[in-house]
Amino acid sequence: MPKNERTVKIGGVTIGGDHPVAIQSMLCCALEDVEGNIAQGKALEQAGCEIVRVTVPNAQGVKLLSALKETLTIPVVADIHYDYKMALEAVAAGADKIRLNPGNLSSPDQVRQVAQACRNAGIPIRVGANSGSVAADILARHGGQPTAAALAESALAQVHMLEQFDFNDLVVSIKASHVPTMVEACRIFAAQSDIPQHIGVTEAGTPRMGLVKSAIGIGSLLLDGIGSTLRVSLTADPVEEIRAAKDILLACGLRRDRVEVVSCPTCGRCKVDVLTLAEKVEQMVENIRKPLTVAVMGCVVNGVGEGKQADIGIAGGDGEYLLFKKGVAIQKYPMEGILEVLKAEIESM
Ligand code: SF4
Repeated sequence: MPKNERTVKIGGVTIGGDHPVAIQSMLCCALEDVEGNIAQGKALEQAGCEIVRVTVPNAQGVKLLSALKETLTIPVVADIHYDYKMALEAVAAGADKIRLNPGNLSSPDQVRQVAQACRNAGIPIRVGANSGSVAADILARHGGQPTAAALAESALAQVHMLEQFDFNDLVVSIKASHVPTMVEACRIFAAQSDIPQHIGVTEAGTPRMGLVKSAIGIGSLLLDGIGSTLRVSLTADPVEEIRAAKDILLACGLRRDRVEVVSCPTCGRCKVDVLTLAEKVEQMVENIRKPLTVAVMGCVVNGVGEGKQADIGIAGGDGEYLLFKKGVAIQKYPMEGILEVLKAEIESM
């Protein structure tokens, strides 16, 4: 489903409209560890991160932001909580976007000053809502619970606080740890506004469950055409977040910039160690930037037919593999050296 979200520019990355969904993450080293944060930022860049966020709670945060701007090529977003002066300083230090809820500032004049500074610098502001940040009056209207409707209303309220000052260069995030609530809240918001959404499941957890929750939450929205940028929040090295984000985009059919490996679950017909082979194939194609699907199947009887959606594949036989393309058998090869054969074929495609 095509996206209906308007475009917003974050440094050199444009999100919304027909632009690719941008992958982002957040640095998690201590603020004082400038070198560690720079190394982490570079590792994220290398892994495919397209926007990186850093918390800016104090002068040390501003210093770190400046250092990141000098060394990273991807846009850097400043995460501000309550202090509007930090937002002003972050803008002056070259932040490419500010993450801030105007409702957390002390006065409308502070909101006006931040909006003015961002307008002058040509940078957007991300506002949002999560289960813990819904204002008391909104909660009261929704039975005291941060329901999906309450979250969407809360996000809209933050938007209106900036629109009052004619500031419309906005991104919105609505997050919850409860996946159905997060998905419904983003859908409610999307029905009312074309502001691009930054989507993600907050506090998703450790890699195993965090990936499942994120894939369901983020994936459901992406398939609805909702979401212009995403973060997979994992309790892990942030590089894992990038890998997970890329996998979700690939699984949703929104990125075809690398090889996808599919493999059969195996059954009693299986003739080979599909798991080991599929993992080796995944490693082998990791850096091949081609929109191809490669199948690793356990038997020739059904493997060729079951793998016919793949561009190329191998199916295990008695002491040999059958190479096939688009469901058509091409040639048998001995087990020894099959990875090299497959790699050469992929590279020639
Ligand atoms: S491809 Fe063969 S081994 Fe794999 S699940 Fe299908 S029938 Fe079983």
